[in-house]
Amino acid sequence: MNRSLGNRPKRILVAGGAGFVGSHLCERLLERGNRVLCVDDFTTGAAENVAHLRTSRRFRLLEHDVVQPLELDVDEVYNLACPASPPHYQADPIRTLKTSVFGAVNLLELARRNDARILQASTSEVYGDPLVHPQTEEYWGNVNPIGPRACYDEGKRAAETLFFDFHRTRGVDVKVARIFNTYGPRMSESDGRIVSNFIVQALHNRPLTVYGDGSQTRSFCYVADMVEGLMALMESPAGIIGPINLGNPDEFRVLEFAELVLRYTGSKSRIEHRPLPVDDPKRRKPDIARAVQWLNWQPATDLETGLSRTIEYFARRQRAARADLIAAE
Ligand code: NAD
Ligand code: UDP
Repeated sequence: MNRSLGNRPKRILVAGGAGFVGSHLCERLLERGNRVLCVDDFTTGAAENVAHLRTSRRFRLLEHDVVQPLELDVDEVYNLACPASPPHYQADPIRTLKTSVFGAVNLLELARRNDARILQASTSEVYGDPLVHPQTEEYWGNVNPIGPRACYDEGKRAAETLFFDFHRTRGVDVKVARIFNTYGPRMSESDGRIVSNFIVQALHNRPLTVYGDGSQTRSFCYVADMVEGLMALMESPAGIIGPINLGNPDEFRVLEFAELVLRYTGSKSRIEHRPLPVDDPKRRKPDIARAVQWLNWQPATDLETGLSRTIEYFARRQRAARADLIAAE
């Protein structure tokens, strides 16, 4: 790995940096004095997410599709480039798979040429509809390889394989994080995931759309905690490769989560049940013993605090949109 930095700041590439998690990561890396090169094709991200960072001379935004090779000088690479919400990654499944697989190859080749360390943002979806609960990193998963979620799940699994093969055969310094459901400000309103859907629905007094009977579970990690976990893994000794689960182990049923959103927003919205998506995992909760032991990391933000900040973010956007509408009349 390239350690001869002298006193100059690290040049860190964040692929998918204009997305939800990526924009928070770019922000924290800049705060720590690094140079940040955000690479994004704006499939699901937006330049608006990083607009506030563009005043920094250490920040650059480059529009690029990671399916195509790229040539840059970098010291570290975070690969977050891939749509993460089920409606988004299923909208063009072939492109999703290409993004994960070709994107991984192109960024791994870039890391190899630069002698740079590279971190993959993998996912709890590599466990599919898990038969082991909570999920430990040793579990190989239960993924339907031909279902509508496969483009994402198998793409991320193949990317993990590529990371480990580049490490074994080319000596690339790799890290693999398995991210569990993460939420917070800058999720897109039209994202389709549970947290943004329920908050936006509650704030507009529209029914909250609970898929199935709502007995399926998820564990929600606040984005600031996730970013700290990703950076801790990147900074960890070379012997720590992963995969390593990053997430908040507090587990909630979807119906219970809907009721919490109603309580915290004070909304009078009803709950409306909709069909359960195909292959929707029934239970999900990370075992984070590895992250605690190897990285000395664990989430610090409880759901009430994180949700309140996220609700405030969406409420502010709603107020701004209303003000724009009134100004235009
Ligand atoms: P997001 O959709 O907001 O961000 C993904 C970013 O990648 C977007 O900015 C998008 O425009 C960009 N992108 C997509 N395809 C690209 C391509 N071909 N070339 C360049 N850029 C491309 O999603 P997110 O929630 O911020 O997720 C970030 C990463 O973390 C993803 O890789 C996702 O799989 C992983 N992850 C997220 C979660 C979560 O709950 N947020 C959970 C597990 C894994
Ligand atoms: N979900 C829901 N209503 C919504 C969006 C999602 O009930 O409007 C459920 C979904 O079926 C899943 C859970 O919430 O069981 C989490 O969904 P999300 O799309 O956020 O992420 P996933 O963990 O499935 O990738």
